Amino acid sequence: MSESPTPENASFDQIGEVLRNHQSFVLISHVRPDGDAIGSQIALGFALMAAGKSVRLINEDGLPDNLEFMAGSDKIELPPAEPLDVEVAIALDTAAKPRMGEKALHAASKAKIWLNIDHHKSNPSYGDLNLIDSSSPATGQILYQLITALGLPMPAESRDAIYVAVSTDTGSFQYPSTTAATYRMAAELIDHGLDVGKINSDTYDNHPYRRVELMRALLNTLELSADGLVANWELRDKTRIDLALLPEDSEGLIDIIRAIRGVQLAVFFEELVDGKIRVSMRSKDKRVDVCKIALEFGGGGHSLAAGIRMTGPLEDAKALVLAAIRRHIEAAGL
Ligand code: AMP
Ligand code: MN
Ligand code: MN
Repeated sequence: MSESPTPENASFDQIGEVLRNHQSFVLISHVRPDGDAIGSQIALGFALMAAGKSVRLINEDGLPDNLEFMAGSDKIELPPAEPLDVEVAIALDTAAKPRMGEKALHAASKAKIWLNIDHHKSNPSYGDLNLIDSSSPATGQILYQLITALGLPMPAESRDAIYVAVSTDTGSFQYPSTTAATYRMAAELIDHGLDVGKINSDTYDNHPYRRVELMRALLNTLELSADGLVANWELRDKTRIDLALLPEDSEGLIDIIRAIRGVQLAVFFEELVDGKIRVSMRSKDKRVDVCKIALEFGGGGHSLAAGIRMTGPLEDAKALVLAAIRRHIEAAGL
């Protein structure tokens, strides 16, 4: 991790003042958005709209097909060509400013104030006001606390979006980042009318057939290191084209190899349309911090879940990343 001192977090009151004293907002999340990214945009966006504010929700890659079920998701737009006339831009769940994408940043370029609300420990606090809580399992949980503390409205769209954000970022309330506060929050959302059976079924039992075909293809590339500590698999252009895959189809599949007994590090290599290689990493052992490994290659994330976008070809990226993982495993004495 970079050792540069990070500016202090703003208080909820300071954030509240900016929200109260302005009328127009653009909310942005990261490229290839996941449930926490889109969920955070809907959660804060609808709370602000219910408070009478004018709000735009922008994502570089638009709304992924697997999150179309979310109430309010039709408000997610691709970046307009011209910068928006907004006073405040709010980055949500975005570990580094460039992760919002060039077009989204251009759309927000007229904003006078940037808020940065996130839970990635690699976040360098690039906002004018920052609210980074790396102990929080999801940006959605920070927003729940913020909305509640400020007494902002919590419409049904926000309520449901917060649940999806936290559920997807905690692997259904399973990862060690899940705390008692997370379960209390979920209970309170249910008290406020959330339909837990329906939302879980919409989130997890609703996959397109091609995603299961992708699992089959990935299993054919599975590799396990001789000591059984590292499992990896890969997705090539050919499979993406043959199965007509969308970027979101691979979301979460790394959990299948992460779950192998004895495996401490799971790695997913993917050839992207732009020729770059996406690397997803998961650790099951606190002594091997995948965020540190990701930072060596310009990526970032959390101790137990991190990612990289790096130059190809895939063979080179794989050799470099697997060698770095090996170094970290040895340094940790596993
Ligand atoms: P993923 O493996 O894509 O699910 O990402 C795991 C975690 O690392 C998520 O919290 C991502 O936001 C973060 N992450 C993924 N790729 C990058 C990247 N290139 N730079 C910074 N953070 C990333
Ligand atoms: Mn995310
Ligand atoms: Mn997140």
